[in-house]
Amino acid sequence: MSIAENINKLKTKLPSNVNFVAVSKTKPVSAIVEAYNGGQRVFGENKAQELANKHEELKDLDIEWHFIGHLQRNKVKYISSFVDLIHGVESIKLLQEIDKQAEKNNRVINCLLQFHIAKEDTKFGLSFDEANELLSSEGFKSLRNVQICGVMGMATYTDQKKMIAREFQELNTIFAKLRENHFVNQSEFKEISMGMSNDWPLAVEQGSTIVRVGSIIFGERNYIK
Ligand SMILES: *Cc1c(COP(=O)(O)O)cnc(C)c1O
Repeated sequence: MSIAENINKLKTKLPSNVNFVAVSKTKPVSAIVEAYNGGQRVFGENKAQELANKHEELKDLDIEWHFIGHLQRNKVKYISSFVDLIHGVESIKLLQEIDKQAEKNNRVINCLLQFHIAKEDTKFGLSFDEANELLSSEGFKSLRNVQICGVMGMATYTDQKKMIAREFQELNTIFAKLRENHFVNQSEFKEISMGMSNDWPLAVEQGSTIVRVGSIIFGERNYIK
């Protein structure tokens, strides 16, 4: 199936209140253009430099660019002038750097807090207590150029559906508690970014509002150049 067909197939299966990011990491610009021509406008990358390069090449298209991976502080400057949503924020220091670069560009950058819900140590993210502490800190309250729009997480890579569902449910609970504790009457705090190509139906069942899918749109990635 073509990229456009893959997009249409996913759209027919996703509930209308759930959005998706087409994860184009490692894929050529031509694949992004193909998806764009198939109607897709939201794309995600996990390397700042690669994202900056693709943005530059495609700057005439009305694409919404999301950063979805682990962002290093010294790379924020490459994407701060245009990025629409940063999914993976997990420290006050990173948030402060995003705020600083956003201010330089005279804009507010939307961010999601990343949580560690998987059983794998290799995955990044905050605990609920750490997030509470971050959101209560004076350092956070002084930031003017970042907007926290919700939460993001990745489930354990396993075929045990119950375990994946439980982890996604945990993220939904974290979202609800944070909203109650820190974002009452703030309609911007509304996103739960969870679900990838292999587990997005489980994520949608557990309340995902944004799924991040790459391989089911663009085909498998080949990391060997
Ligand atoms: C690569 C990646 C995805 C998409 O992965 P697929 O399995 O290809 O859908 C989603 N989220 C993050 C954070 C990623 O790095």
